[in-house]
Amino acid sequence: MASQPEEFDVIVVGGGPGGSTAASLTAKAGAKVLLLERETFPRYQIGESLLPSTVHGICNLLGVGDEIAAAGFMKKQGGTFKWGTSPEPWTFAFAVSPRMAGPTSHAYQVERRRFDQILLENTRRLGVDVRENCAVTEVIADDERVRGVRFTQGGESRTAHARFVVDASGNKGSLHGTVGGQREYSPFFRNLALFGYFEGGKRLPAPNSGNILCVAFDAGWFWYIPLSDTLTSVGAVVRREMAHKVQGDQERALHDLIAECPLIADYLSDATRVTEGDYGQVRVRKDYSYCNTSFWRPGMCLVGDAACFIDPVFSSGVHLATYSALLAARSINSVLAGAVNEERAFTEFEQRYRREYAVFHDFLVSFYDLHVDENSYFWQARKVTQSSAPDMQSFIELVGGVASGEDALAGSTDLIRRQGANTAELGAAVNAISPGGSGFLGRSSLVADAMFEGSQIQAGVLFGEDAPQEPPLFEGGLATAGNGLMWTEPKN
Ligand code: FAD
Repeated sequence: MASQPEEFDVIVVGGGPGGSTAASLTAKAGAKVLLLERETFPRYQIGESLLPSTVHGICNLLGVGDEIAAAGFMKKQGGTFKWGTSPEPWTFAFAVSPRMAGPTSHAYQVERRRFDQILLENTRRLGVDVRENCAVTEVIADDERVRGVRFTQGGESRTAHARFVVDASGNKGSLHGTVGGQREYSPFFRNLALFGYFEGGKRLPAPNSGNILCVAFDAGWFWYIPLSDTLTSVGAVVRREMAHKVQGDQERALHDLIAECPLIADYLSDATRVTEGDYGQVRVRKDYSYCNTSFWRPGMCLVGDAACFIDPVFSSGVHLATYSALLAARSINSVLAGAVNEERAFTEFEQRYRREYAVFHDFLVSFYDLHVDENSYFWQARKVTQSSAPDMQSFIELVGGVASGEDALAGSTDLIRRQGANTAELGAAVNAISPGGSGFLGRSSLVADAMFEGSQIQAGVLFGEDAPQEPPLFEGGLATAGNGLMWTEPKN
């Protein structure tokens, strides 16, 4: 006999960073939440280089900031790039200068099996019914709205109903079509990634030894991510027209690509490839750059890779997953509380999510253009700053002066100013590697809004309900309530 449907406020599909964030932040607001994860954690996942906005803003909101800080992950002060025509690698730091440096001016390089498990265990602690080894097979919907899901548990098919279903099932999930629209693959980012793990690779000199190292070469570029003092994640991102280089024996292909890239070959000259366990396999990923034309319908929304992903360069994946989950949680919490109607709440979700996606997408397109064009504006700007400084950090300190426009936030308290300054540092870092330095993105109100939103998340974490209310980002749009977990009508 079929079991009775179970009833929840929210069902989250997938226990990656997007799913655990959405489940945690709705449970924190009092919702009864079920999270269904197909695999048993810990499980392997790619996406190891994180951004400060995730490890400080979102992780503190989730209540795992201290746990993440104590987990022994490699501290990432910024990034080091051998990119463009410069013969030497250049570096940017999140902490643009000692004057602006603060406790949130770094991120971490994480082993995702550990990071994701910390987040998922925290979700459990927050009262979410987390069930691993349970795959969602179908979304239950009628003409009006999504009503629940069917899933397998212990070999049995079961049903659960809820006011909201959050699809956080990642890149390979098959439920996203339920919200309507299409998954549009990027005509620009048509790359393939081939990656593996090495023991004993070299490290950049301190203080950059935890930095991500990205090295462009003829067929594409390499990431080199230090996960511990000895373990390194190494991946080649190869242009589609170079796909033949990834055919056949993948271990051989990775070996050959490394040989084509002298800096990575040198860093791995004394290293051995890991051949056992989770890290023992050489893996390939392709078709990962896409964006769905719809992010929600009544009763259901998409977060993280279920909705969109751009490209590994600049590590935006986990940021977009956790940020979109926060936006979804605010919408769900507001509707469940009767504070805002569904259409208005999810329009706000989609607008903010698309704006954040667009910031990274447009920046990354420009970054790849710069890679192929030696005479690009980026390198004109970079040469200007390189001439007066040994590395990109000097350039970022210079551009950080522009970003200190964030001092406009300083009207409140020192803490807000510090949080704002660190968000500005991220903005400065982004600006620093854009054409014309502070020009390209600095001129963009989109980016300014995104940076302001980041500072508001961090302020909300610090001050809870007492945080100053953020003005709406869009005309006629909603504001974020002081606790960061709800939308509210803006105060006049
Ligand atoms: P996921 O982490 O994929 O989690 C989805 C979960 O859903 C999985 O655990 C899966 O088992 C589960 N699931 C799937 N289907 C079902 C189902 N039917 N029922 C139940 N559960 C289900 N991002 C970064 O931030 N930094 C990087 O350095 C970086 N490098 C990358 C390199 C490459 C080559 C690629 C392709 C991506 C990279 N990313 C990076 C992106 C990053 O991997 C993703 O953006 C991120 O993992 C998305 O998180 P998520 O929670 O949306 O999905």
